[in-house]
Amino acid sequence: MKNHKGKIDIICGSMFSGKTEELIRRLKRLDFAKKKYKLFKPIVDNRYDNKKVVSHNMNSVQATIISKSEDIYKHIKNENIIAIDEAQFLDEKLYEVCKKLIEDGIDIILAGLDMDYKGEPFGSMPKLLAISNDVKKMHAVCFDCGETANYTFRINNDTQQVLIGSKENYKALCKNCFFK
Ligand code: ADP
Ligand code: MG
Ligand code: ZN
Repeated sequence: MKNHKGKIDIICGSMFSGKTEELIRRLKRLDFAKKKYKLFKPIVDNRYDNKKVVSHNMNSVQATIISKSEDIYKHIKNENIIAIDEAQFLDEKLYEVCKKLIEDGIDIILAGLDMDYKGEPFGSMPKLLAISNDVKKMHAVCFDCGETANYTFRINNDTQQVLIGSKENYKALCKNCFFK
C-alpha cells in the first residue's frame, strides 16, 4: 500500500446536464498530460455504444464495461486514476470499492445522476458525495420553461428505478415544472 491516498471527484446532476461531456473533457486533459486512466461503465447502460462512453452530442471515449462494482479491481493494472460514468447504476458495493481504491492511492473521477426520476437520491451516489473531495453539480435546461433544470422527469408510466433511455423516456425539468 502506498503512502499517498487517492481522492474522489464527482460530476453529478440530472440527465442532459452535461455530466458525460464534462467527464470526457477531463479525460482528454489526462491524455494531454500523458496520465494513465481507465474508464468504466456499468453494463446496464447500452444506450448508444457498448464499449464507449458517449455523450448526448456523440462525443466518446473507450470504456471497460463492468457488471458489478468489484469488477473494477481486476481491471486495474498500472493506472493511478479511474473514471466511472453512470455510477448510480452500479450496485451499492461501489462505496466500499471506492474507499478501498483511494486507500490504495488511486484517484477517482465519477459521473452520475444524483437523483432518480422521483427526485430521490440515486444508488451509492449520496454516500459517495459525502466522502468526495470535489463536487461539480451540472445543470440542464428545463425542457418545459427554459430555466435551469436539476430534475430528471420520466415521460412514461414505468415505475422501476432503472429504466434506460434518452429523450424518448426522460426530460430535464426545473423544480417548478417537476412538481407540477
Ligand atoms: P448527461 O451525461 O448529463 O446526461 P451529456 O453530457 O451526455 O449529458 O449531454 C449533454 C448535452 O445534451 C448538451 O451539451 C446538449 O448538447 C444536449 N442537450 C439536450 N437536451 C438538453 C437540455 N434540455 N439541456 C441541456 N443540454 C441538453
Ligand atoms: Mg451521461
Ligand atoms: Zn421549468
